[in-house]
Amino acid sequence: MKERTLSIIKPDGIARGLIGEVIKRFEQAGLKIVAMKMVRMSKEQAKEFYAVHKGRSYFEGLTDFMSSGPSVVMVLEADDVIARNRELMGATNYEEAAEGTIRREFATNERRNVVHGSDSPETAEFEIDYFFNAVELVGT
Ligand code: ADP
Ligand code: MG
Repeated sequence: MKERTLSIIKPDGIARGLIGEVIKRFEQAGLKIVAMKMVRMSKEQAKEFYAVHKGRSYFEGLTDFMSSGPSVVMVLEADDVIARNRELMGATNYEEAAEGTIRREFATNERRNVVHGSDSPETAEFEIDYFFNAVELVGT
């Protein structure tokens, strides 16, 4: 079933020149980009975006990191794109991520893991709405 997901190339990915590398992988896997822009989240916005993680030990570090520089945010569309994107990303902890995944190849620690991807249809809807309005979602 065709669905949409929110992808973020995190500030470490931007700083290390990995925008093209990540987008190439999405395109080669047949995931369509239906919206894209560069944003610089404030600390408050990062806390709002990651609100479900509030109270976790890594929350402060994560929201400091996500507001430390620009990110590229994208909406990807394809059949089963939520799962397929997470497969391309690899596990949250890059040391446990499968060979050939983005995180396995490029993450530098558990926080600085290059990419974000929605984990369910409900979070995808919240996350897409957080960054994009109807006019910005160009469709296919
Ligand atoms: P994912 O990004 O794979 O969906 P989570 O939603 O569990 O992972 O966590 C959100 C983000 O918080 C992770 O991508 C990572 O940047 C950071 N994070 C998660 N767990 C840890 C941890 N134990 N230590 C440091 N950072 C973490
Ligand atoms: Mg998550």
